[in-house]
Amino acid sequence: MFGRSLKLFRILGFDVRVDISWTFFALLIAMSLALGFFPAVYEGWPASTYWWMAIGGVIGVFFSIVIHELSHSVVSRAFGTGMTGITLFLFGGVAEMKSEPESAKAEFFTAIAGPAISIVLGVVFLWLASFGGPEPTPVSGLVGYLGRLNFVLAVFNLIPAFPMDGGRVLRATLWAMKGDIRWATKWASGLGGLFGFALMMAGLWAAFAGSLVAGLWWFLIGMFIRGAAQSSYQQMEVRRLMGGVSVRDLMHKDAHVVPPSLTLAELVDRYVYEFQQTAFPVSEHGAFIGVADTAHVKSTPREDWSRLTVRDIMTPPDKAPLVDPSQDAIVALQSLQQSGADTLIVVEAGRVLGTLSRGDVMKLLGLKMDLESA
Ligand SMILES: [Zn+2]
Repeated sequence: MFGRSLKLFRILGFDVRVDISWTFFALLIAMSLALGFFPAVYEGWPASTYWWMAIGGVIGVFFSIVIHELSHSVVSRAFGTGMTGITLFLFGGVAEMKSEPESAKAEFFTAIAGPAISIVLGVVFLWLASFGGPEPTPVSGLVGYLGRLNFVLAVFNLIPAFPMDGGRVLRATLWAMKGDIRWATKWASGLGGLFGFALMMAGLWAAFAGSLVAGLWWFLIGMFIRGAAQSSYQQMEVRRLMGGVSVRDLMHKDAHVVPPSLTLAELVDRYVYEFQQTAFPVSEHGAFIGVADTAHVKSTPREDWSRLTVRDIMTPPDKAPLVDPSQDAIVALQSLQQSGADTLIVVEAGRVLGTLSRGDVMKLLGLKMDLESA
């Protein structure tokens, strides 16, 4: 879901990162404030004043989103759900959870904490702005803008479209009512998908009616919400179906182990083509010493294939994609996705036990979806 992100600082034990996409968002806010919003509301001020207000506005938006996400994280941690940190990206922020919340109550309070703090911030900013007196100043104008922004943030996030905060509140309520998180997620994410689609259509309509930029933004936000709603339902299904399955249950026990003295030409002919695998564990005197994979063979000039051996090109154990046999299969699938590797080598106490490929996990998942999903 995220591209490159940059860690900014750490607060209350959480890392705050910004995704590259957020810089575009920040630029867009700055431009629309300096060239559109402030000149329209406060006429006749110098252009440099609007730009200073806009820069203050972007910084204020940044901290408003960080405080909103932090409050989700702090409440979630209080309920015992692990949080990895906060990442600001395109349209706002995301507080990343390691797993699904423990209970409907935990989800309800975690979700409501963000909009609640945004409303508090909104009230505080508007109250501060009221000290400016009847004549608007750049400072009171900026603070007043931040007050209204926080109300917008609260209201937008309360839309009952899962996985937005309002959708999480809805899911928690349905979950508490029927005691079935799967049913609750199905409905809440279904509504989320519908809402995203409606926003996309409204965006298209606005674009054709003349508000091209606003329409495009609505369309993009709608597309994002729709995608997030669908993928969060799929993720929950995958977690449910693969729950309790370990790497040991799923791995190929008869792994094709290669010796380090094998030449690359032999590796390709006798192993890669024969077994149609891209990675092979390398073992010497029964001990695991590395992984030979086709990517390294490919980057070696062909004329050297009969001269160089597996030992010359293998990845050492500390850099190889390894997995413990007791690990959950779903965690193994995540590390396959993150590392970009096709096969994990299952190693226990320095010995190769087997291999686990992405295909193996997907095959079982496909079978389970076919037989157990109603
Ligand atoms: Zn939120």
